[in-house]
Amino acid sequence: MPRQNVLSPFPQSSHVHARCLKVAVGKAEQACRTRGARLTSLRRRVLELVWRSHEPVKAYDILDRLRAERRGAAPPTVYRALDFLREEGFVHKIESLNAYVGCGEPGHLGSGQFLICRHCGEVAEIDDGDIAALIADRARQLGFASERQTIEVDGLCGDCRAAR
Ligand SMILES: [Zn+2]
Ligand SMILES: [Zn+2]
Ligand SMILES: [Zn+2]
Repeated sequence: MPRQNVLSPFPQSSHVHARCLKVAVGKAEQACRTRGARLTSLRRRVLELVWRSHEPVKAYDILDRLRAERRGAAPPTVYRALDFLREEGFVHKIESLNAYVGCGEPGHLGSGQFLICRHCGEVAEIDDGDIAALIADRARQLGFASERQTIEVDGLCGDCRAAR
């Protein structure tokens, strides 16, 4: 697989996650400056909470955290912030888990393919145009015009496989 297709690899267990977090927030800030979008302190905090790890986070977990930090944090506040972050491409929703994960290359165009480890819960993201083109082509054969595709693959990551 060409390296450039890997947007977020599975992290090494020894990696310094604070750095992932810092890079992700920095990229989001940069993208917002370029696009003229506003990364309010709430949106930024929700992004940080999604990036707490490489495991998808549920909206109510984010809400619980926010409630502990600021008064008046309500579900619509969190969902609106998540919608913003999704639209800007800073986070993705993993539908099969109903949870959110940070994007390693915020704002990339194209469709994501997500590898979800069923043991540790971590997610890797790839963006392989060949896979997307193949699906679009097969869909077209059925008269279907595909607009957006997200693929979620369950399995075991390398670390979890090695630990067995
Ligand atoms: Zn990390
Ligand atoms: Zn992404
Ligand atoms: Zn794993």
